[in-house]
Amino acid sequence: MKIFNSLTMTKQEFTPIEPGKVSMYVCGPTVYNLIHIGNARPMIVFDTFRRYLEHKGYEVNYVSNFTDVDDKIIKAAIEEGVTAEEIANRYIAECRKDMEAMNIMPATTHPQATLEIDGMIEMIGKLIDEGHAYEKNGTVYFSTRSFKDYGELSHKNLDDLRSGFRDLKVSGEDEKEDPLDFVLWKPKKEGEPSWPSPWSDGRPGWHIECSVMAKRYLGDTIDIHAGGEDLIFPHHENEIAQSTCANGVPFAHYWMHNAFLNIDNKKMSKSLGNFFTVRDISKEYDLQVLRLFMLSAHYRSPLNFSAPLMESAKASLERICNAAMRLHDLCLGGADGEMTEEERKTALEAKAFILRFDERMDDDNNTADAVSVVFDLVRYANSFVPDTATKALAKAVLDVLTELTDVLGLIVVREKEDLDAEIEALIEERQAARKAKDFAAADRIRDELKARGIELLDTREGVKWKRV
Ligand code: AMP
Ligand code: ZN
Repeated sequence: MKIFNSLTMTKQEFTPIEPGKVSMYVCGPTVYNLIHIGNARPMIVFDTFRRYLEHKGYEVNYVSNFTDVDDKIIKAAIEEGVTAEEIANRYIAECRKDMEAMNIMPATTHPQATLEIDGMIEMIGKLIDEGHAYEKNGTVYFSTRSFKDYGELSHKNLDDLRSGFRDLKVSGEDEKEDPLDFVLWKPKKEGEPSWPSPWSDGRPGWHIECSVMAKRYLGDTIDIHAGGEDLIFPHHENEIAQSTCANGVPFAHYWMHNAFLNIDNKKMSKSLGNFFTVRDISKEYDLQVLRLFMLSAHYRSPLNFSAPLMESAKASLERICNAAMRLHDLCLGGADGEMTEEERKTALEAKAFILRFDERMDDDNNTADAVSVVFDLVRYANSFVPDTATKALAKAVLDVLTELTDVLGLIVVREKEDLDAEIEALIEERQAARKAKDFAAADRIRDELKARGIELLDTREGVKWKRV
């Protein structure tokens, strides 16, 4: 299997530190608001990569943090007149809901920065002792010149960067010895959350959090570190500097970075205001559609969000689900008995799609091509598994299809009871919308149900429904 390693800028054969095991760290969101679908891109692509590693038989230790202390969280807390902790806890809970709705597997560990302060104080202390960090008036800075490989990941010309920064006075940080030095610990300002430390009552910088959480849950050297490409500099560069200097060994062997999710070719971001939250999208679409939309592009290519692309992902998902549901029905109602000779051949041919799928995924997590293998299989199943097929053949082909869709994190077979429960929930939502006189929402839900072949009947005993 090959991975494009941002460190070497080449596709490299993947060799884990320990055979059969993979340690992987993915930078998670800062929790001050609902996550937007740009934040969802790394979640979806790296969750899929993890699923693929597991499909290949690796045991994956997958760690993804929540950054729960940060200027933006504090600002949101002040605006609302609540504690930073309340803001962080609220949006961690909301983020977990969104992740579940996107069928993102829970990480092996989801550490929170505020619960790891001791480890951060320890690592900062070590960096000071060994001459990699210095303290000025309660603030601790990392000394970038003390690490000879600084800049290795971002491939930037550091002298240019340094001279660019020279005239720039960063407020409160003008005691830095070098413009590229960065904060490991900062003293608190009035009303901010803080922890005691040998240098001041204060809080950690953002970068040290990830170095410490990766070390604690995965070890000094990890296999894969991942995140969005905006994190390469300075965040990941700084993580490498801290971890390598503190641990005395290389930090991560492979660095994977997803490209941006854009709108009108501009990065979707909170600061530009050009974003949709995952929650917004969930009102219009099943989030599996979002998942398929994301996976239909290669993770290192920019992806433009648009309604037509979402509609096309919706139609594609329906095509896969319809094929899967037909096979599922055949598993129950198909012919009894063993497969015929002809069917045995069909089953073998269907199985070969797994190899084709794996080949695409082995090429740097190429989900775009892997998705097209799934469509080829759907076409194959529609043509070569007739309605007269045996249950055994239907099951063999469905098993192949679900093995592949499981890697993509798509649930394509829904039991009838689950579907019914979903419909009941939508009907309840519509009733609530009508009660609240939100007729637009009520109509939207009725239309959605109609699109799914559900007709609503208002009766004296309440709303009844039937499939048409
Ligand atoms: P943040 O909460 O801004 O630290 O972002 C959490 C994760 O989402 C990081 O890995 C970011 O790189 C990633 N991210 C943020 N915006 C986008 C975007 N528009 N497209 C892709 N990834 C993004
Ligand atoms: Zn990080």
